[in-house]
Amino acid sequence: HPSPAPQIAALNPYVPGKPISELERELGIRESVKLASNENPLGPGDKARAAYAQAAMDLGRYPDGGGFALRQAIARHHGVDAGMVTIGNGSNDVLDMVARTFLHPGRESVFSQHAFAVYPIAIQAVGATPRIAPARDYGHDLDAMAALINDKTDVVWIANPNNPTGTWLTAAPLKDFIASLPKTCICVLDEAYIEYVSDPDFPNGVDWLADFPNLIITRTFSKIHGLAALRVGYSLSHPQAAELMNRVRHPFNVNAPAQAAAIAALDDAPHIARSAELNRAGLAQLSAGLQALGLAVIPSLGNFVTVDLGRPVGPVDQALLREGVICRPVANYGLPNHLRISIGLEAENARCLAALEKVLAA
Ligand code: PMP
Repeated sequence: HPSPAPQIAALNPYVPGKPISELERELGIRESVKLASNENPLGPGDKARAAYAQAAMDLGRYPDGGGFALRQAIARHHGVDAGMVTIGNGSNDVLDMVARTFLHPGRESVFSQHAFAVYPIAIQAVGATPRIAPARDYGHDLDAMAALINDKTDVVWIANPNNPTGTWLTAAPLKDFIASLPKTCICVLDEAYIEYVSDPDFPNGVDWLADFPNLIITRTFSKIHGLAALRVGYSLSHPQAAELMNRVRHPFNVNAPAQAAAIAALDDAPHIARSAELNRAGLAQLSAGLQALGLAVIPSLGNFVTVDLGRPVGPVDQALLREGVICRPVANYGLPNHLRISIGLEAENARCLAALEKVLAA
């Protein structure tokens, strides 16, 4: 057999959930509810759906390889220059571009315990060394992260709010931390869930781009915009970092209907507001319901909530599946007793709570 590169042989793969149709067939269930992947239960708004359908009429040509119109729209949305935007096939693609651009063997990259699973994959795939700081109260411990930074550290990763814990950092400590980094060390601030946060004092990394040429903000269309199926994400950074990342970006990495839908989604403020409001109500509903079952909930600002079941998650998850409720056990994130539940429609949340009550009592 051909042997993989050593860093690939050592890689722990990301394990995606089983397709719903397959699960339903295996378990003999129907009409399951999926609260497993932090999607928007409303899906995209009408504007994005219409733009997608229109673009799908013409599939014979390559998409705009540089994403000109999409980058313009993103830049306008954030009030930045289009030269600061890098587009990706989902923000995962952008995270991977960061690693391929700024990391290499012998160098180190710092993130937190319970951080998003794609960071270690991106780091290790390019042969760099992950350094994992212990978490505090499930969230980022910036002092513990700072203690791992040395002259070999090229990239630090922080998701705010974080997945899978929903935890967050406030503006002052986060900004101080970024300011304390060596100027040669990139800070990735992953804001996949930021649109769900309503607090006006919550830090928006875009405001700091002018201060920190080593800051890279990542965003996605998979969450509040409801376009997870289309795979569109982007970063905002100093134009020089964007230019470097564009060197490793695969040409045509975002397909044409996805570009069209994403542009339309940015222009649909009512859908964004509706999605945020639905999430606010659903998060309150689920959190209260879980607490009423006597369970400890990690306070979350995302479109999901992670709960401590007080017992190994595996059997509970299996029993929930037999009830037709698909959630995400997060044992692989170092949380063996925890279940992450994405916020769904009101009736879906209620069904999840009822199933959990039944399963825990059994
Ligand atoms: N960052 C975080 C923190 C996430 O939770 C996710 C999605 N699970 C992503 C990035 C990637 O999202 P996408 O590739 O769909 O843009």
